[in-house]
Amino acid sequence: MQPKSYVVLGGGITGLSTAWHLSRLAPKASKITLVEKTSRLGGWVHTKLQHGQIFELGPRTLRPVGDGGRATLEMVIVSSVHKVHQLNLQDEVLTTAKTSPAAINRYIYKDARLHQLPTSPLELLAPWKLKSPLLKGLVFSLLKEPFVAASKASDESVHSFVSRRFGQNVADNLVSAVLHGIYAGNAKELSVRSAIPLLWELEKNHGSVGRGLLAPPDRKAVAAALKKAREDAKTRDANADAFVRELQSTTSIYSFKDGMQTLTDALHRDLETKENVELVRGEVEQISLGPNPEVFHSGDSNPIKADHVISTLPASALHSLLPSSQQPLASLLSTIKSVNVATVNLAFRGSASKVLSLNGFGYLIPLTEPTGVLGIVFDSCAMPEQDAPDATRMTVMMGGHRFEQYYGNPDTVSIDTLRDAALTAARTHLGIDAELIDVNVALHRQCIPQYTVGHHDRLQEMHNTILRDCGGTLSLAGASYFGVGVNDCVKGARDLVTALLKPASADSVITGLERVEL
Ligand SMILES: Cc1cc2nc3c(=O)[nH]c(=O)nc-3n(C[C@H](O)[C@H](O)[C@H](O)COP(=O)(O)OP(=O)(O)OC[C@H]3O[C@@H](n4cnc5c(N)ncnc54)[C@H](O)[C@@H]3O)c2cc1C
Repeated sequence: MQPKSYVVLGGGITGLSTAWHLSRLAPKASKITLVEKTSRLGGWVHTKLQHGQIFELGPRTLRPVGDGGRATLEMVIVSSVHKVHQLNLQDEVLTTAKTSPAAINRYIYKDARLHQLPTSPLELLAPWKLKSPLLKGLVFSLLKEPFVAASKASDESVHSFVSRRFGQNVADNLVSAVLHGIYAGNAKELSVRSAIPLLWELEKNHGSVGRGLLAPPDRKAVAAALKKAREDAKTRDANADAFVRELQSTTSIYSFKDGMQTLTDALHRDLETKENVELVRGEVEQISLGPNPEVFHSGDSNPIKADHVISTLPASALHSLLPSSQQPLASLLSTIKSVNVATVNLAFRGSASKVLSLNGFGYLIPLTEPTGVLGIVFDSCAMPEQDAPDATRMTVMMGGHRFEQYYGNPDTVSIDTLRDAALTAARTHLGIDAELIDVNVALHRQCIPQYTVGHHDRLQEMHNTILRDCGGTLSLAGASYFGVGVNDCVKGARDLVTALLKPASADSVITGLERVEL
């Protein structure tokens, strides 16, 4: 394959992993330039060490499971067989065991009390053990679900899907809370097809979620997966592979001793050592595509010229950088809106067993509660190693689709308003009377993209528009398209680079949105 020059827009986790995979896999003479507007690489991955404790302002932990989980673990931990290109973060990893209370105990806050969720699917077989009135009727809904007719619609809201199949109580009080935790979004607006694709696929392929989950696995798919696993194993370091498998089988969530930013800092450091990588500070102001793409940015009056542009910017940022000739793509990108979220890290004096009356992951708040607080994560229960002595940490997540309703204009809201609302929630919901000893308030504007109903069809249109209008020189990756989790972003970056560098792709166009075709 001929060496090429690539420009990667954005230095969040997606941009960093894209540049990192390119630096590893593209022909040696390829040139990779990454442009980031802020002075810190990492995007929403942002850790603050404050008075001896870790405060995560963005993502706080990762799950090791699934293809996305493996993509992240392999990037940071697995060395290649030739022992090059490794970040070697094994010794930095902190884990929460699957058997730990912080992995098992999860709660929903409703009607001024916390309701514990079933700790395992087996508990559903013993409904008398489900103590919360919130779970009343849940078992009956699950038993009835296989007999509910499948919808023929091409998409619908998560709330409508779940109400139809499992009843309104489940949609209102359980699923809407889960979506507050992942998307900070409104279950009545988010698309089931894009926000929880597994549910949509099970209904489409099996006529029911329950029947789909219980169906025997497709033999062809299992054989293909085993074949791929055998092929992948040949290129992996056996010791590192064992580490990943061990982590996947024993661990619910993981982070790093110095917090999540360890990952993006390690990628940054590694990229700085690569001769074929240039990290440029500057705000991208305009992009011209076509046979000789150019990226104009605030750091230099001369544009960056490259053979291929990979945008990992949020869709809402990219849309305003395209020239008028790309208007159809720009207007599609502008439909993917994001919400504002405030994270308030609180530290109270005393150990977690004294400050908190329960031990668990934390709790989420459903749509039915009139509050701007989305949930509280008990950081000290999951990662006590990141605590300062005699302190208990937790993070209050606030706003999302309800930001403006409860806190007003994000440009004018005061930090004190957010701090006071978070503290009041922690004290009243959890009955905490311990002394507050530390606090950090972060307001993230437009931080989580919302996959609203019709998202999949809009991506399909975007894919076709890029194929038609962009001369084969633009690919998209990042949280705006196929999953907002860090693992989704890393997997998207890895898959995009693999597709771009496949020999068959030399002349074919890779938009980054090929998954809409599956
Ligand atoms: C509060 C919060 C909590 C979260 N919690 C979790 C969690 O626990 N687990 C999990 O898996 N995920 C979590 N997420 C989601 C996850 O962190 C993000 O989806 C992911 O980090 C997005 O990465 P990205 O690189 O795609 O985008 P970004 O991080 O947005 O990176 C884009 C980069 O582009 C830069 N940029 C923008 N415009 C320009 C321009 N014009 N020129 C140059 N550069 C530009 C930005 O400065 C930024 O650095 C959370 C997100 C938030 C906000």
